[in-house]
Amino acid sequence: MSYDVAVVGSGPGGAVTARECARRGLRVVVLEEGAWVEPGAAEPYSLDQMRRQYRNQGLTVALGRPPVAYTEASCVGGGSEVNSGLYHRVDPEVLDEWSAAYAIEGLGRADLDPWFDSVEDRLSITTPPPPMNAASDVLRRGAEALGWDGLDVPRWVRHGASGAAPEKQTMLRTYLADAIAAGAEVRSGVRVERLRVEGGRVSGVETDRGVVRADHVVVCGGAVQTPALLLRSGVRRNVGRGLSMHPTVKVLAQLDEDVNDPRDLATYQVKEFAPAMTMGGSAGRPGMIALGLSGTWDRDRELSADWRRQSVYYASIRSQGTGRVRVLPGAADPVVTYHLTRRDMAALRAGLGRLMLLLSAAGARLQVPSYVGAPRVTDAGQVGPAAEAMSRAAAAVMSVHLCGTAPMGEDVRRSATDSFGRVHGVANLSVNDASLLPSAPGVNPQGTLMAVAHRNVDRLLEGSR
Ligand SMILES: Cc1cc2nc3c(=O)[nH]c(=O)nc-3n(C[C@H](O)[C@H](O)[C@H](O)COP(=O)(O)OP(=O)(O)OC[C@H]3O[C@@H](n4cnc5c(N)ncnc54)[C@H](O)[C@@H]3O)c2cc1C
Repeated sequence: MSYDVAVVGSGPGGAVTARECARRGLRVVVLEEGAWVEPGAAEPYSLDQMRRQYRNQGLTVALGRPPVAYTEASCVGGGSEVNSGLYHRVDPEVLDEWSAAYAIEGLGRADLDPWFDSVEDRLSITTPPPPMNAASDVLRRGAEALGWDGLDVPRWVRHGASGAAPEKQTMLRTYLADAIAAGAEVRSGVRVERLRVEGGRVSGVETDRGVVRADHVVVCGGAVQTPALLLRSGVRRNVGRGLSMHPTVKVLAQLDEDVNDPRDLATYQVKEFAPAMTMGGSAGRPGMIALGLSGTWDRDRELSADWRRQSVYYASIRSQGTGRVRVLPGAADPVVTYHLTRRDMAALRAGLGRLMLLLSAAGARLQVPSYVGAPRVTDAGQVGPAAEAMSRAAAAVMSVHLCGTAPMGEDVRRSATDSFGRVHGVANLSVNDASLLPSAPGVNPQGTLMAVAHRNVDRLLEGSR
């Protein structure tokens, strides 16, 4: 069977694309490599979830010094099924920065606001009702003690009756459900190996289950897999080069009271230094607590028994560094590299220091920064030396926000697609996911990439009318 539109990947970018195309009456197929896992079937933030819904069980790394551990979801719904659901609109200054650097048309805040409104409506974006969870309250206390700005971040979560578990509004529950209701076909467990590109057009989508034909192909595989697929298909112009992320460092903090809810995490973020730096909370299952102590495990293993009084907090930065996605003949996975600049390392040390200061102000009597050989920090006077001692060799840096590997814009020397995601030089090929955002935006990115994806697919459909 031949389709009007084939969408590769069913994460937030792919789900928005599929819904809008199907609603306009087009024949749509979504090809998703990962499994179909009903929301709630895997415990959030668990090892079971990592095995079933993450690429390579969550074990992926960008090579560099230090290397950066990153994770990508791989399941129907993509990252929306596993992530924390924290929602922001990007700062207008960041949109201006992108527009100027890549000559992007129509990306001002006023251009995007209607798309943000629409996304917020469908995802039921709401601020969590009080009381704030205990791990969040630690951040709030610390911020207030220091006079720093912060907020309980809105989420795509529906709060039912009191006591009922909140329901995360993942793509499977929202945009993909709408797409399917409008007639889209979603095929899980189908990996797209390559696009056949001939004479400036895609003539076929080669999957591990055979060839799919479509008039237009939209690649939405996420910021690592989208460039990998384009490169495997011989589409190379400005593809895979500008990988950008929010490098993140962590601290384990022990409080006097129980703060750990293994099913959830802190929703409060400290925004005093935003968008350059954000502080917040990470998942805190006992396994994650142990991971937080892995750099000092010989000394600190017995601490992990007290996990109910502990929580892991992070500082993440907008990075000046960049990375690259490359493909190797015959290898299923791309090779990813990332270079943290000297300024990035200084910003990460500063972030670690500010975070520990804040946690001390919130009453944490014991902190262990997550890097190899880190000292225990038991009073505010030890914070500065402990942050400064994080060397490149010892640092444990991670990221879950990846962007920038197929940037949009009219400047063909820098961009891989036009301002609306149509790939330069291939008439019936688009990208519509996090790869388009020229750099990591300084806020959790899903809301921004969905607004951009909605704007882009609307433009594509206008063109096809
Ligand atoms: C643990 C975690 C926590 C996060 N927390 C937040 C948060 O709180 N707020 C926020 O805004 N963002 C958060 N993010 C980031 C957010 O989830 C991503 O920015 C977003 O999911 C990216 O959407 P996407 O459509 O670009 O790609 P993805 O969500 O990565 O989806 C891509 C999909 O395409 C599939 N695919 C890839 N290649 C192929 C192929 N060749 N063939 C077939 N299928 C393919 C993949 O299997 C995947 O399912 C988090 C991410 C993670 C991992």
